[in-house]
Amino acid sequence: MMAGIDLVELKTLKDFYALMAASREVRRRAVADLVGGRPVDGDITASLSNLLASLEAVEEIDGRKRLSLGGGRTIGLDMSYEIDEARKDIFYLEEGEETFLEMLGDFHPGFDDHVDRGRELLRGVDLNCLVSDRDGTVNNYCARYLTSIQSVYNAVFLTRFARAHVRRPVILTSAPLDGLVRISVSPDGEFYYAASKGRECLDREGGVRRLAISPEKQEAMDGLNARLTELTGRPEYEKFTLIGSGLQFKFGQSTVARQDINGSIDKAESEGFLAVLESLTAELDPGARNFRIEDTGLDVEIILTVETEGEGLKDFDKGDGVKFLDSELGLSLADGASLICGDTASDVPMLETALGLSPDARAIFVTEKKELAERVTGLTDAALIVPEPDMLVAILGTL
Ligand SMILES: [Mg+2]
Repeated sequence: MMAGIDLVELKTLKDFYALMAASREVRRRAVADLVGGRPVDGDITASLSNLLASLEAVEEIDGRKRLSLGGGRTIGLDMSYEIDEARKDIFYLEEGEETFLEMLGDFHPGFDDHVDRGRELLRGVDLNCLVSDRDGTVNNYCARYLTSIQSVYNAVFLTRFARAHVRRPVILTSAPLDGLVRISVSPDGEFYYAASKGRECLDREGGVRRLAISPEKQEAMDGLNARLTELTGRPEYEKFTLIGSGLQFKFGQSTVARQDINGSIDKAESEGFLAVLESLTAELDPGARNFRIEDTGLDVEIILTVETEGEGLKDFDKGDGVKFLDSELGLSLADGASLICGDTASDVPMLETALGLSPDARAIFVTEKKELAERVTGLTDAALIVPEPDMLVAILGTL
């Protein structure tokens, strides 16, 4: 008997993280059974039902789930991703795939049309590689990275697509590698997991590949990270490690949240923290040789620069990541078809790089933003825009 999930009373943030980590193990077993053509263990649906009931039972105040941080402090969380995906997984396991797809179709207007168009774009294609962003693209958005455990249906659909149609499937995110593996539930060895915008990658044999960073630059990065640790350890700034992306040390980049999608931090306080980070970076790197700051409004990303041919000193983007992975993993982007998927402007350089190597790169982007949609469709005719990650996942899973 494998460890399952019991109904638990969640009191602390730590309890919540532990429960979600346990759900990863349960979901991995379900996915392994399903893609292996075996019946799913009977206790798995019961475990996921306990997961759902435990999450739903957390007290809600003003639309936020309230958990203790210890020391008398509490935090209000949006758990809609964790709850919705648990519900969908239970439905998928109990009702089967066909009924599940019908349910998605009832839920999202235009679902069938978008899925049909996607299948048309990829009909008969044999892909050298898939390079896809994760969050907001092939995975629904979650308020926190480390509890955004991949769903069973999601992993089954993506794994099936990868096995049947793609020689080298790559999930490429800006998040750090360590977290990425702990939230994925596809069987080991199905995907390349590239993180930190493609500067580091877990290959399908379990080895880690990294783009070399010079000792001087790594030293600058270590110095920055020590200062960020000190800064966010102060009582007035600690809260920024507990919201949204929190504090993440990636390979060649560090990220600090200054706001989350719910606007939990007072606007002036969030702006003030951005100014503190900007002056810290300027103090450490007065000549602006080592770092570039990118502010998304929610996250402040402090990125190590790279020396590139032609473009000089620039911040490393996902297009640079694709170039590195192409040569490191042998993606053969230049001699065959590829599919590039993303959901934000930071994913566009992946498509630009792929198209620069071969005109036979196709794109599916998940966005409702007109400007981004036009940018993508302006790059190639072989591009499709869909409004929801579940539509992209259904396209790939039913091809
Ligand atoms: Mg994304």
